[in-house]
Amino acid sequence: MTKKLDFFDISDEQIKSDTKGGPGGGGGNLLTLAEGDTLLRIMPPWARDRKYYKAYKMHFALNELINYGLEVDGWFNSPCLADAQGKCPLCALANRAKAIGTRNNDPQLLALSKSIRAKQQYIANVVNMNKPTEGVKLLPFGQKVYEGLQNVFARKGNITHPITGRNIVITKREIPGQRWFDYSVSPDDVADISENWDSFKGQLQDLDSYPKLPDYEEVANKVASIELIAPNSGPVTTAGGNPIPGYVPSKASRLEEVDRLLDDMED
Ligand SMILES: [Zn+2]
Repeated sequence: MTKKLDFFDISDEQIKSDTKGGPGGGGGNLLTLAEGDTLLRIMPPWARDRKYYKAYKMHFALNELINYGLEVDGWFNSPCLADAQGKCPLCALANRAKAIGTRNNDPQLLALSKSIRAKQQYIANVVNMNKPTEGVKLLPFGQKVYEGLQNVFARKGNITHPITGRNIVITKREIPGQRWFDYSVSPDDVADISENWDSFKGQLQDLDSYPKLPDYEEVANKVASIELIAPNSGPVTTAGGNPIPGYVPSKASRLEEVDRLLDDMED
């Protein structure tokens, strides 16, 4: 006999259409995964016609901009403003770094462009099943975990169902020599959480309010302090795009080059 529960179901069609490919690309309530295994329960959608997650874009590694004159210490990441505002100072900066890096054959600027460009992110309501009394937390995650979760949904159906759903294990591992972690997602056993469901349901966060977007002018002002000249900028190029071997341009001439490129891009 099935117990009657008040929750937003995810239909098989939704799972199918959502697992076809997927997008390319703080606070005390946030759950930060510890290294090793974490047993989690993904909560059902917080409202009708919503998914179990909210997707958004985020710029990371902004501290790398300190090498380029960023005057705001402690600025590490910032939500992308492109979707909400139609333009984003950080996307523009990443594009400029790519354009100037390509033009000047400057690997540092190209790497910077890659580091700071907007990355696809997700956030979901979850319960850490090792500490269920802590209640519902928000788990932000990237593309690797998203794909792992979608894979589990595709194989096991709606794992968020309070009775027939199941827990999952997210494994976080250090990658030697890298600053980021590797993640994998695997399904755990079916687990009935209906006894706690009323409490969990009351704690679900409205994910439409995430991420909290920064003020456009504020981001633009921070970006304005950045000068895209690499500390050890590579050789500049001739008008034909060929690098001039061994030529170290003066800072003034490099700034002129940057201004010219910016003008080109604004046309
Ligand atoms: Zn952006």
